[in-house]
Amino acid sequence: MAQAKKALAKKTKKARAGKRAQTYLNYIDGRWVPTSGEYAENRNPADTRDVIGRFPHSTEADTDEAIAAAARAFNGWRLTPAPRRAEILFRVGEILMRDKEKYTRDMTREMGKVLKEAGGDVQEAIDCTYYTAGEGRRLHGFTTPAEMPDKFAMCVRQPVGLCGLITPWNFPMAIPSWKLMPALVCGNTVVIKPAEDTPLSTYNLVKACEEAGIPPGVVNLVMGSGSTIGKRLTNHPSIRLISLTGSTETGRIVASACAERNAICSLEMGGKNAIMIMDDADIDNAVEGAIWGAFGTSGQRCTASSRLIVHKKVYKQFSKKLVERAQALRIGNGADPKVDVGPVINSDAVEKIMSYIDIGQNEDGATLACGGRHLTKGDYAHGYFIEPTVFTDVTPDMRIAQEEIFGPVTCVIPVNSLDEAIDVANGVQYGLSAAIYTQDVNRAFHAMNDLYTGIFYVNASTIGAEVHLPFGGTKGTGNGHREAGTQVLDIFSEWKSVYVDYSGKLQRAQIDNKKAID
Ligand code: ADP
Repeated sequence: MAQAKKALAKKTKKARAGKRAQTYLNYIDGRWVPTSGEYAENRNPADTRDVIGRFPHSTEADTDEAIAAAARAFNGWRLTPAPRRAEILFRVGEILMRDKEKYTRDMTREMGKVLKEAGGDVQEAIDCTYYTAGEGRRLHGFTTPAEMPDKFAMCVRQPVGLCGLITPWNFPMAIPSWKLMPALVCGNTVVIKPAEDTPLSTYNLVKACEEAGIPPGVVNLVMGSGSTIGKRLTNHPSIRLISLTGSTETGRIVASACAERNAICSLEMGGKNAIMIMDDADIDNAVEGAIWGAFGTSGQRCTASSRLIVHKKVYKQFSKKLVERAQALRIGNGADPKVDVGPVINSDAVEKIMSYIDIGQNEDGATLACGGRHLTKGDYAHGYFIEPTVFTDVTPDMRIAQEEIFGPVTCVIPVNSLDEAIDVANGVQYGLSAAIYTQDVNRAFHAMNDLYTGIFYVNASTIGAEVHLPFGGTKGTGNGHREAGTQVLDIFSEWKSVYVDYSGKLQRAQIDNKKAID
């Protein structure tokens, strides 16, 4: 441990003392170009003395240039056969595989999540890229009988057009890939805007696209703020589709702007996910699931297990084990392989999470069973570290049980029955993920049927989605779309129904039909 720490400190010091931080450029029309605006430093959330690089704080003019490039490239890309488009994606997948380790280290450094999880994030981008590339030889439409003789009916997918992809910082490569790859395989051209805190991972992804031979203008990267670039993309008349993963608040702003100009809008927003732990559950397994779900990525996942709804018969036993496990988690720089929980993303996040910890104790009156501190001393002095925090004796109506905290904080809520657990689990504004721990198949199916969420797990945590299944949520989590799986193709393509009349005469549907029965 001491040795690994020393090596890490040496590396960090070297990075700090090294050359002036690299300046990164936007990628527009197949070229790396400077912004017409300013540059902003991006720093490691585990050690803010470590400058990762200088990234563009781009302008509306930069965004407009990227949109113009995407518009110019659209026809060429749209008319490139999908299997050819997919060949380039397969090549992107190979490059991502080749450089996985570097991307993983970059991600831990810019975002904070521990190396193992950053590797998982990159792997998800690889999986998504290969899976989506496979769609190049499918992109299935369908045929169906026509109601008239000598007439053929079919349905095909066509690209939407120019897409604006706006992504968050918590899955810095996986989420951009979930949007970028299906957009490309369907024949769209894109402008992607990563979150301000994590531009490097998207830069790496776009670099891989460039190396793989994506034609100029098909993928454009503009880095900068949501209020400038995000807003410009959302309001630009040429952008036909906005795909956003972010907060519910931003989602509402983006949805209204898209509604104003009749643009397509796909949203993936917050969650307040519950694990239900029944009295017949394997408690040790449930504790492991809860720890992983609540404190993985420092709780900064939209699928984080932020509510643990526990049958009263096992409430004490579960809570005790949970607290013991939470207290044993090692907090620190995610680049140290021994660390379990990395920092949170930035100082705003610290403030927000600490304010909820305060609300939990004072306003709500729950019991702070462990954690709750912002760590600022010693090794933690230069990062954003918050202890894994467990509140017990939480009631379903408390703010900490209703609102998304997006940090290493979870609430344990006691209940008397499965039915009560289901009511509590459903009793929030979100509907992303839920889980049940039970040995009883009837209870498991009952819960699966009654939980109004987009994702459901049995005897597993609320996190762990795979790329070939649809991902998304109900209620305040989304707006009816699903990413991943083949369902994502319905976001990035539009259906065209095609009728071919080979009768050689006018046949009027609904009018000239010969009745089978008079
Ligand atoms: P988070 O709380 O996870 O940071 P945000 O919703 O603030 O979520 O950010 C998600 C993405 O949306 C980021 O890329 C951010 O820059 C962008 N964004 C923020 N505000 C807007 C906006 N008004 N219009 C478009 N995009 C925005």
